[in-house]
Amino acid sequence: MNVHDSEKVIGTLRERGYLQKATAEEAGLVLYNTCSIRDKAEQKVFNKLQNFKKGAAKSGQVFGVLGCVAQQEGEKIFDRAPHVSLVVGSASYTKFPELLVQIEQGERRVTGLSLDVDEAFDTPYTRRDNPYRAFVTIIEGCDKACSYCVVPFTRGPERSRTADSVIDEVRRLADLGYSEITLLGQNVNSYRDPSPKGWDFATCLERVGQVKGIRRVRFTTSHPRDFTKAIVEAIDATPTLCNHIHLPVQSGSDRVLTGMQRLYTREQYLERIGWMKAAKRPMTITTDIIVGFPGETDEDIDDTLGLLDEVQFDAIFNFKYSQRPNTPALGMGDHIPEEEKGRRHMKVQERQRMIQIQNNANYVGDTYEVHVEFFNLATGQWVGKTTQHKTVNFSHPSGQAANLLGQYVDVLVMRAGPVSLVGEAA
Ligand code: SAH
Ligand code: SF4
Repeated sequence: MNVHDSEKVIGTLRERGYLQKATAEEAGLVLYNTCSIRDKAEQKVFNKLQNFKKGAAKSGQVFGVLGCVAQQEGEKIFDRAPHVSLVVGSASYTKFPELLVQIEQGERRVTGLSLDVDEAFDTPYTRRDNPYRAFVTIIEGCDKACSYCVVPFTRGPERSRTADSVIDEVRRLADLGYSEITLLGQNVNSYRDPSPKGWDFATCLERVGQVKGIRRVRFTTSHPRDFTKAIVEAIDATPTLCNHIHLPVQSGSDRVLTGMQRLYTREQYLERIGWMKAAKRPMTITTDIIVGFPGETDEDIDDTLGLLDEVQFDAIFNFKYSQRPNTPALGMGDHIPEEEKGRRHMKVQERQRMIQIQNNANYVGDTYEVHVEFFNLATGQWVGKTTQHKTVNFSHPSGQAANLLGQYVDVLVMRAGPVSLVGEAA
């Protein structure tokens, strides 16, 4: 989502005649886009700003901080880094052109920090780096209140984009030669078209998959509470919708899920997994896990390990709980020491690694269509993804000269490791 936010900002700047420079040193305007989901994100930004100022900064350079750290720290940024002139949260990118005008007129302190709900959002200018795969935002913000999470404070409440505007953008992308689309939102499942059409997420997904020229549609992220059977049915009915679902569970323990305010139980989560496992095309299922949430016990971690065994996820993102400003979990007692979080993280990683080794072995001997992303000079192999989001490294008789970027190539899988598959162009 942050990558796509940068694409939108760059698109707006280029529309206004700005040119992108290869290094920050050469630029007249230097913008830092920031994420504050975990760790000491604000500290990292200030260190970068300070180092840059000490090092190569030219006189007359204008500095800006964008994204979630901008939203979180607001005008305090001007005090800590007085050479910064522009502070803009991600909910204010629609106002970016107006804010730029103020900067161009020489104003020294310009902010865009409102979390305005009434603001209709759209992405009129976007500069995409990848010519084959594109992100398309369908919903901004989040109305959930997971007790560990900073997103509702930094990205504001949910706002869905109109279905017409989503479909228009996808059609324009298809006309430009894009064949793979990833629909984006903090919780795409709660998408609701604000126009009289009133499409829900499953309908939106299906219609995007029907746009001529689009061969693959992905989406991220889903929330188990709002994930419906209709989404699995849409994937079953529409071959362009990729058979991969990322459904963050966070923990396998009901006690921890309650503390996290996730609004579902382990059983309800498993019910959704049951829908996916019953789908006509085999589904890849991936998730996010947080270890070391305040008060988490050894028993809770055992529940999470048991869930991994039961679901047999294809991949997980495994995070150590990180204290975030303003969040309710901060005030909970019994914070877990970093060292113990590390041990739990390792335990989860090890268990999942074994699952992935077994899981990926099932792909050996079969042929899969791979959307090619790049050529790896070090290995002499092409690299791409199957519709199930498995990474495949493969050789081709013509090597790099085959020029396969952005193409769909059938690959026979010969070997499998825990994180990727290896094969030969069929
Ligand atoms: N809206 C999505 C993604 C949120 S951020 C969702 O609800 O799933 C992506 C992931 O970061 C989350 O799924 C969670 O696993 C992790 N995360 C969020 N806040 C965190 C925190 N304070 N500490 C550690 N991990 C966190
Ligand atoms: Fe954060 Fe929860 Fe919203 Fe995801 S659903 S962005 S974890 S508050």
